[in-house]
Amino acid sequence: MKSRWNDDEAEALAARYAQQGVDRDLALRVYSSRLLGQDPRLVLHGGGNTSVKLRLRDLLGDEVDVLCVKGSGWDMANIEPAGLPAVRLAPLLKLRALNHLADDDMVRVQRANLLDPGAPNPSVETLLHAFLPVRFVDHTHANAVLSLVDQPDGEKICREVYDGRFGIVPYVMPGFDLAKKAARVFEIDPRVEGLILMKHGIFTFGADAREAYERMIAAVSAAEARIQKKGTRRVFPAITLPQRVATIADVAPILRGACAVKDERIEGAYRRLILEFRSSPAILAYVNGREVMRYSQIGVVTPDHTIRTKNVPLLLPPPDTANLTQFHKDAFAAAKGFIERYRAYFARNNARCDPPKRALDPLPRVALAPGLGLFGMGRSRQEANVAADIAENAIAVITDAEALGRFEALSEAKLFEMEYWSLEQAKLGKAAEKPLAGQIALITGAAGAIGAATARAFRDAGAELALVDKDKKAVEALAQSLGALGLACDVTDDGAVHAAFAECCAALGGVDVVVSNAGAAWQGAIGELDDKILRQSFELNFFAHQRVARAAVKVMRAQGLGGALLFNVSKQAINPGADFGPYGLPKAATLLLVRQYALEYGKDGIRANAVNADRVRSGLLTKDMIASRAMARGVSEQDYMRGNLLGREVTAADVAAAFLYHATALKTTGDVTTVDGGNIAAALR
Ligand code: ZN
Repeated sequence: MKSRWNDDEAEALAARYAQQGVDRDLALRVYSSRLLGQDPRLVLHGGGNTSVKLRLRDLLGDEVDVLCVKGSGWDMANIEPAGLPAVRLAPLLKLRALNHLADDDMVRVQRANLLDPGAPNPSVETLLHAFLPVRFVDHTHANAVLSLVDQPDGEKICREVYDGRFGIVPYVMPGFDLAKKAARVFEIDPRVEGLILMKHGIFTFGADAREAYERMIAAVSAAEARIQKKGTRRVFPAITLPQRVATIADVAPILRGACAVKDERIEGAYRRLILEFRSSPAILAYVNGREVMRYSQIGVVTPDHTIRTKNVPLLLPPPDTANLTQFHKDAFAAAKGFIERYRAYFARNNARCDPPKRALDPLPRVALAPGLGLFGMGRSRQEANVAADIAENAIAVITDAEALGRFEALSEAKLFEMEYWSLEQAKLGKAAEKPLAGQIALITGAAGAIGAATARAFRDAGAELALVDKDKKAVEALAQSLGALGLACDVTDDGAVHAAFAECCAALGGVDVVVSNAGAAWQGAIGELDDKILRQSFELNFFAHQRVARAAVKVMRAQGLGGALLFNVSKQAINPGADFGPYGLPKAATLLLVRQYALEYGKDGIRANAVNADRVRSGLLTKDMIASRAMARGVSEQDYMRGNLLGREVTAADVAAAFLYHATALKTTGDVTTVDGGNIAAALR
């Protein structure tokens, strides 16, 4: 590993911050924190922290000694001075005299001594930084160091590699006790360049930002050299894989269904996860290894990963294309076993806790699929992504640890202590979960007014989205603005629909709600109509709905979690308008299609419902159509749009609200909801 310190860059940043009145050392602290945070081999998703001790003026203008330490919620890769809140140092140092300090009291003291009361919470490792009488302190969970400290004889190896230049701290849970322990180890020999924390990570010290940073790079390089001395990376002897390994798109919905639990409060509801797939030669070598059952089930490589990935991943059987039914059975059995073991682990360890802990959901956050790769899982795409990053990193660490000797993790009790830390427990239940959290919605005709409004409504309700539209540019732009998956697809093309669902499954894990919305109006007097036009309209306004619903049902049944099929029908299906035969006829067939799906798949928990909207601006009604119709009736455009019982114009957002209602109405199927401002002739009876 090479130092990325660059004097020109460092000075430029310091000069830029100086204009904003930021202390030079704080600016350089920001610079080297970013260097650390930008390398995933050093720091991953909040897995490290840095500090500097300064003299700053408080709000009254008095000079005080402070510790500027990484604040929670900031990512080191793009940290700013505001991400290193200043805490008065003297009160922090006083704490060292205490015998015991509860975690929540520690947080309170730290907050109470912030120079800026509006600043973020200082890191949970703040006291460790404070108790060390050195100016710059850098902390990472560097991969190479973890490969050394996660060994049965890790301490011996570290003493050889670091030869007295680093103090060795035995494992203690982060917080007050670790801070005191680390300070005591430092005081044995204050000349050390840093501390190695067994089963946890590394600290380095410096009189300036560059020294602390470059000592980190040198120490990690020494660990890398020690790993390389063992020769080439160990290749795990592999199992024999099925001749044809199943695709990610086939495997993901089965895994997703297996990794869901019933929501006990609401019949028909499940707690579901979003999936993020990863593969690489290193991942494949690991998951295909004959001993994967041993080395993958030992535990996390550094304790704070347990909050993101749980202690161990779910291990799947190799998925065989020729026998997906067997894989389905085996995957569900494997997940059931995982859930049972997790519940037993919680009960066993919680028995010692006073007050008792609140159980987290028992679902895995990482799954290993031999022949394919790994899946990160989470309640959102973001969480799944973090779990996948950490899992990929853990594979690198464990692979090297196994090359060096034998990977060893903390005991179950110590991992439980971390997973159920009071500071983590305090965060539970603070933010109410959104109604569609963990769910995946696929919306067709997404680039149109109703499709886009529905996409926004579903995104705001917490769903992850796959947006489908024929207009590639428009759907990609919309998807990007909503953080969604954008899929260019013509729903009248069987192969394209199949591919869109496969992509949705591969990228997100499956599908829970489908809004079959794509449609277009064809006009013509029914007695003089060319068959070609009627067939064209049937292709889009009926067959496309059937094609999309059929593909959705296949995925939903593989998951076994029910689902919602929602169709944009039209008031035309009930109340035909003159010259709208080519549009109304297939829509009437689609209305029957909704009922057919409701009838045949209710047993699978799959609901089928329709929304009948009318007179929605920039839906099917173009500007010209509105103008000509208003003129034909001798009313203003506005009066035309409000020509309903309530006298109110119907918007795309009103239609979206009806779809959203049906996505969550677990006891309703075969229903049609009218969104037309009131039209007795179109009322259902
Ligand atoms: Zn740490």
